[in-house]
Amino acid sequence: MIKLNYRKQRFPAAFFLSLFGLFPISLPAMAESINQPTIAIIIDDMGNQYQNGLDLVLLPYPLTLAFLPERRHTQALLRLAQQYNKEIMLHSPMENLLGLQLGKGGLHENMSEQEIKSTLANSFKAIPNMIGINNHMGSKLTTKPKIMKWVMEQVKQHPFYFVDSRTSANSVAAQTAEEYQIPNLTRDVFLDHKQTRKFVQKQFLKLIEIAKVKGTAIAIAHPHKVTVDYLSWALPKLDEKGIRLATVSAIWHIQHPHQQMHSNHKQLKNNWLNPSTAFSHKNTLSANTAYTQ
Ligand SMILES: [Zn+2]
Repeated sequence: MIKLNYRKQRFPAAFFLSLFGLFPISLPAMAESINQPTIAIIIDDMGNQYQNGLDLVLLPYPLTLAFLPERRHTQALLRLAQQYNKEIMLHSPMENLLGLQLGKGGLHENMSEQEIKSTLANSFKAIPNMIGINNHMGSKLTTKPKIMKWVMEQVKQHPFYFVDSRTSANSVAAQTAEEYQIPNLTRDVFLDHKQTRKFVQKQFLKLIEIAKVKGTAIAIAHPHKVTVDYLSWALPKLDEKGIRLATVSAIWHIQHPHQQMHSNHKQLKNNWLNPSTAFSHKNTLSANTAYTQ
C-alpha cells in the first residue's frame, strides 16, 4: 500500500518507539490518520481558455486536469501541467441530449465501431502523459451500452483509468468499465455549475461531507474565475480541517489498498503510459508538502 502522507510516513518509527514506551501513540489516533477523509478535484474543459487554466495549473496542490483534445490552448497548458506535476486526463467529448457541439475528438452515437475507436486513439495521442479519461458532456452517449463497450475496448489497450462524470443518471459508463476490468471511479459532486461563490462553497462543503462518510470523494470543476478564486482560498485551509487532497489515481489506490491498478499492463512498466503507484504517491505527497509550507 502506498504511503499517503507525512503522518503515515512517520508512523512506523513512532509506532516502534511507542512499543518501548518512549513515544506513546494511541491506536485510535493511528486509525484516524489512515482513515483521513480524502478528496480529489478534477478540472474539466482544460484547453479552451488560457488564463483561468493557467491559474489552476499553478496552484500548488495535486489537482487532476482533464484536457479536451486539440483545443487552442491544450498543448501549452499541457506542457505547464506536466512541469507543475499535475495528473493529466483526457476529457473525451461525448454526444449529449441537448445537441451541443462537441468539437474535435467528439464521439457520436451514429459513428461506427471503427470511427469511435480511431477517434479515441487520436485523442490519446493528442494528450501525452494522460493516465485517465472522463467524459465531456455525454448525457446521451454514456447511456448506450454498445458504444460504451467500444469505448472501453479502446481504453483497455492502455493502462488508463476511467472516471464517469455522471452527466446522466442512466449512465452505464462506469459499469461497462468495470466489466472490462478498467480501474474506474465516479464523480460525486459538480462544484461550479452555478458560477457564484456561494454555490461553489455549498458544493465544496457537500464534497467534504461525502468524504467524511465514504472516506473519499471526487469533484468536477471547471476553469471559471469563481472556481479559481474559491479554490485558491479554500485549498490552503483543508489541512487544518483534517481533509486531504489527492489526485484521482491516489483516490483509486485508497479505495483499493491491496490491488495493483494495472496488473495486466506489466509490460508497460516505466513507459510514460503507465500510471505507476510511484506517480500517484509523489503527487499525493506533494499535497501534504504544500500544506506544511
Ligand atoms: Zn466538460
